[in-house]
Amino acid sequence: MLRISAQNQIGRYLHRHILLAPRCFSRRFLTTEQSEPKSRKWALPLAGGLFIGLASLYFFLPDVSRSAPTTSRKPLSARHFTPTTVISSESSGPDTKILKLRVPPNLVPKEGDDPIGFGPIWSVFIKDDDIQVERPYTPLESIDEDGTMVFWIKKYPRGEVGRWLHSKQPGDTIELRGPLKTWPWKEGEWDEVVMISGGTGITPFYQLVHQVFEHPTSISQNTRFTLVHGSRTPEELPPERVLGPLAAYAEEHPHKFRLKLFVDADDGSKPPLVTPSLETCRVNDEHMKRIMGVPELTWWQRWFSSRDTRPAISQKTLFLVCGPEPMIAAIAGPYGRNYSQGPTLGILGRLGVTPKQVWKL
Ligand SMILES: Cc1cc2nc3c(=O)[nH]c(=O)nc-3n(C[C@H](O)[C@H](O)[C@H](O)COP(=O)(O)OP(=O)(O)OC[C@H]3O[C@@H](n4cnc5c(N)ncnc54)[C@H](O)[C@@H]3O)c2cc1C
Repeated sequence: MLRISAQNQIGRYLHRHILLAPRCFSRRFLTTEQSEPKSRKWALPLAGGLFIGLASLYFFLPDVSRSAPTTSRKPLSARHFTPTTVISSESSGPDTKILKLRVPPNLVPKEGDDPIGFGPIWSVFIKDDDIQVERPYTPLESIDEDGTMVFWIKKYPRGEVGRWLHSKQPGDTIELRGPLKTWPWKEGEWDEVVMISGGTGITPFYQLVHQVFEHPTSISQNTRFTLVHGSRTPEELPPERVLGPLAAYAEEHPHKFRLKLFVDADDGSKPPLVTPSLETCRVNDEHMKRIMGVPELTWWQRWFSSRDTRPAISQKTLFLVCGPEPMIAAIAGPYGRNYSQGPTLGILGRLGVTPKQVWKL
């Protein structure tokens, strides 16, 4: 999820260096023209051609949102942007905020009109109006009938949209388009769903677990869920607004939902919530074996047994992984070309999990 798509990169590059370029070009051109030798007169048509080519590429990149219109007359849809109002924006830890937005209630699709049923897991594209770039974000509790959506958003030092969102104040307008399905839930397909997240990668899983417990009819009653989450330090763990309900679900329904929390390092900072089961280290093979109930090999099995006779992980167990790319690669192997799913490697690969059982969000 937290990957920066190549299109985003190209779009941003083109915007900064090409679409904003005419002003710089003309200034530079005026000054250089006087001193440039005549033999470089071809430079202007060449630069012009290059500019037109790259600018048209920018307009045709599907990831760049400029082509979608903005309207307040039609219900929310991925086909157009809808203006929303910032209700609140509150700090929720280092570089993160809880942002509450409201869509006019008459624009919330009625049941039946809405193409994806707002079932888990879905997201919206939010448009940064300053540079006309969009990024996907996950509303924590879906959307309520008043049109309220709550997001947990992280800003990165050189990140465009995250920083722009953090600068927004109550009353400001933010345009978004969606819903878009992040991952399709299929009723009755899995006995167990294991979600592994890092940082704000927890948001799609929060949405799924919230749906499981608050709208139980929409999710298979017989599926068990486990959420394994890692943050860098205790204070970087998700805020109480996110961890609180998850911890409560795990406590009230231990047979339906398990929550395992990890931090890379204990720097002495305070976690947002007292978390008795917090472990200090990155999730590794041994943790996953323990979580999945794979028994350890005894020394004599290791020495004398030619094949691993431990019970394999059930084919009816699904692993969803979401977080920064290095974490995804360590847990499940890297994405493939053009952000396809790629091979199942890493910890899950070593556990014998098949590609059919893994989805990298
Ligand atoms: C389906 C989906 C749902 C998402 N939901 C959420 C959500 O609920 N909350 C949320 O905060 N984000 C979410 N994201 C991530 C979000 O879409 C952006 O990728 C993220 O906010 C960074 O965008 P940006 O424009 O701020 O940074 P960019 O301009 O894209 O990145 C600029 C620089 O910031 C740094 N950077 C950016 N992202 C990361 C990262 N993940 N790890 C380390 N460094 C990084 C890099 O150095 C990069 O060069 C979701 C992504 C997907 C695909």
